Amino acid sequence: MLYKSTRGKTGNIHFKDVLFSGLAPDGGLYIPEKLPGPELFNVSNFSEKTYDEIAQIVMKPFIGSFFDNDQFKQITKNAYNNFKTNNRCELISLSQDHLLLELFHGPTYAFKDFAMQMIAQMFQVALKKIKKSINIIVATSGDTGAAAVNAFKNLENINLYVLYPNNRISEIQRRQMTTVEASNITIFSVDGTFDDCQLLVKTIFSDVTLSKKISLTGVNSINWARIISQVVYYCFAASRIDPQKKIDFCIPTGNFGNIYAGYVAKKIGTNIDKLIIATNLNDILHRTFTTGRYFKDKVYKTHSPSMDIQVSSNFERLLHHIYKNPKTVEKQMEQ
Ligand SMILES: *Cc1c(COP(=O)(O)O)cnc(C)c1O
Repeated sequence: MLYKSTRGKTGNIHFKDVLFSGLAPDGGLYIPEKLPGPELFNVSNFSEKTYDEIAQIVMKPFIGSFFDNDQFKQITKNAYNNFKTNNRCELISLSQDHLLLELFHGPTYAFKDFAMQMIAQMFQVALKKIKKSINIIVATSGDTGAAAVNAFKNLENINLYVLYPNNRISEIQRRQMTTVEASNITIFSVDGTFDDCQLLVKTIFSDVTLSKKISLTGVNSINWARIISQVVYYCFAASRIDPQKKIDFCIPTGNFGNIYAGYVAKKIGTNIDKLIIATNLNDILHRTFTTGRYFKDKVYKTHSPSMDIQVSSNFERLLHHIYKNPKTVEKQMEQ
């Protein structure tokens, strides 16, 4: 599978280059040249497969031949070995037709572990293969940073730098990041909001010469490898539910990564009907869908800091699927 940018000026990119990329050079986000449809998988037999097996089946076409089957099996195993449940996530019945998908059984209790543990293992194997070392920089509203620190601590050939907004993350998250002893990890507290942290990261990435020189790498939810890691739990959850029933997912949303993974899961044939955006006071997406205008408001500090975001980066990917024209996407994003 080859990748291109949502803004159309970069194309023919292989997974190994997408894996280590943040934004595309034209400012867009990477997406498959053609997103596969339901013909790719036999989702009906997923009900007999384990989480790890579904991960291998679902992610393989997106990865292509960069990892061979045995390698990828080992990557999945290493990524999910330290989860506290064999199913990796648990589907709990709340009432008839109302279920809760528990995504907090990873090492840092955030759903971010699903993607972060996976890409850390992918990076490790890939870097050995291409004999390279990288510098990762990531902005966090709390959970991503903690998950990244846990996933990348003490890995070879990788330095991790995390920026978090001062006083806007929980005390537990702060400690998860700042009390890990690993020489390859540096944490910065920034006077500002998550969007300010994100802007700093984006600014550094926009210096293409510097980024190349230090092999700067992104692991924010705009990283495509994170998205496809998250597609797996939608496929897994759906496979545990009566296939006669269409499933709606209601998804707490910030940067639009998690819900976009649900959208990809739906596209590739998972039995999903509606995807419902849940927001807090920072409701840029709700406003966009009700008014048709995507515009920034101030960032409100709430009890769900991972959703205290006014710029939902992955939303551009949805625009790509809606407009099907990179020029329109670029124009809309600039406006
Ligand atoms: C990351 C996160 C979100 C937001 O997810 P996005 O993929 O950014 O939309 C919501 N809730 C929690 C607890 C999170 O960790």
